[in-house]
Parts: sequence; structure tokens; C-alpha cells
Amino acid sequence: MLIDSHAHLLDPRFDADRDQVIMSALSSGISFIIESGCEENEWDKVIELCRSNNHVYCALGIHPHEAKTATDAAFAALEKKLGDPKAVAVGETGLDYFYKHSDPEVQKQVFLKHIDLAVKTGKPLVIHCRDAYVDMLPLLKSNSGRLRKPGLIHCFSGTPAEAKVLIGMGFLLGIDGPVTYPTARNLKDTVREIPLEKLVLETDCPYLPPQSYRGKRNEPAYLACVAEEIAMIKQVALETVEEVTTSNARELFSI
Ligand SMILES: [Zn+2]
Repeated sequence: MLIDSHAHLLDPRFDADRDQVIMSALSSGISFIIESGCEENEWDKVIELCRSNNHVYCALGIHPHEAKTATDAAFAALEKKLGDPKAVAVGETGLDYFYKHSDPEVQKQVFLKHIDLAVKTGKPLVIHCRDAYVDMLPLLKSNSGRLRKPGLIHCFSGTPAEAKVLIGMGFLLGIDGPVTYPTARNLKDTVREIPLEKLVLETDCPYLPPQSYRGKRNEPAYLACVAEEIAMIKQVALETVEEVTTSNARELFSI
């Protein structure tokens, strides 16, 4: 059994067959899916999706792209929604300097408020970080001691050295479809060097399909490709990757 620790099942690309996609995930050995709620107008829909599917849990937060929309009222609403039993993490939140849809200073302030919510609720963070590790690491260094359960660096894309700093602070790393791309040397090196006990599997669907589905819509049922690649890189049995990453995710999200 596998856990897809990061999905976007509410994406319009699943509108026509969302229930079927979830059924096909379950029959492909996915036991739980963590849906990522990225903005205020999604949270209720995400919670609704979780309530109608026993196997779906969620993270709720404000994506760095949307940081400019994060008002005090939005944070008050977020804190309330995080009281839902299906909301198992705070996020996704973080820093994205690749697109810079929101000003980096605003992104940092909004990220810090998510850290405060994680401290307050005791729930782990789901962190999005793209081209921003240089600012992310010091922010985490000065705050990770306050967190009961640090959380997950979703779709890790840094260097093996950055990975070691992050796991040293207690974070887990999310590994996604790109690990299967022949050119992903850095990521393959990270997977080789970081203990399996620090990794969880993600699809980030509908984005980032594994190599054999490139150009297509990604979905939770394809998560096995990521597990197989990790088994190959680390030279361990596929069952070991499944057991350890599933137990990592269950412990992280308390499910
Ligand atoms: Zn995401």
C-alpha cells in the first residue's frame, strides 16, 4: 500500500472523472491521498472532497503564488478550517521565486504566519519551495524548534546538501515524478544519499507525470512509478520502499 502525500484532485482536469480517478487509485494500491488546498476559495471544496472519501485527507493553506491574497480574515478562516478532523497539515505554503506571482517579502510574511498556525495547531507544515532555498533555510532554522512536528518539503528540488540540512531539522522530503526523468541527476543523488526513513511519495497530480506518462495528466494511480524508481536508485526491494514511505506518511499526518 502507498500513500500519495500530495495531490490536487480538485483541479478542473479531474472534473469529468474525479470519482473514477480515486477508485482507480484505490485499486492500484493507494491507501490514502493527501489533497492540497491552496487558496481560500478552495478550502470548503477540499473538506467536502475529504468528507465524501474515507481515503482522502487534506492540507489547507495559502500557496505562495496567492500570498498577496492572504488577509488577516483569510488567516482567521484558515485557523477555523484547520480544526476539521480531515485537515492533517498546514499548507501548501512556502516560497516560489521561480514565478514570483507574489512579492518575495509578502511571501515570507505569509509563510511565517503559516508557521505560527502550525505551532498553534500542532499540525505539520507542507512546504512548497522553488528557487528559494536560500531564504527558506534560514527561516526554517530560526523556527523549526517551535514546531511539534516540522513537516514535509513537498516536491523536493534542492541539492543533496540542502536535503541534509532539512532532514537535520526534522523535515521529510516529498519525492515526485521528476525522479523518474533521465536528466534528474541532482534528485536521484538526493534519493541515494538520504535515508528512506526521511522520504514520502507524492504525485502532485495533475502535474509532474512520471517518465512513462509524460505529456499526460498525472494521477495517484501512477505513484508506483516513483516507488519503483526509488527502489532502483537505493537498491532495495520495492516492498521496503512501500512499507517505509507509507509508515513515514502515516506518522507525519497522524493517519
Ligand atoms: Zn501542490
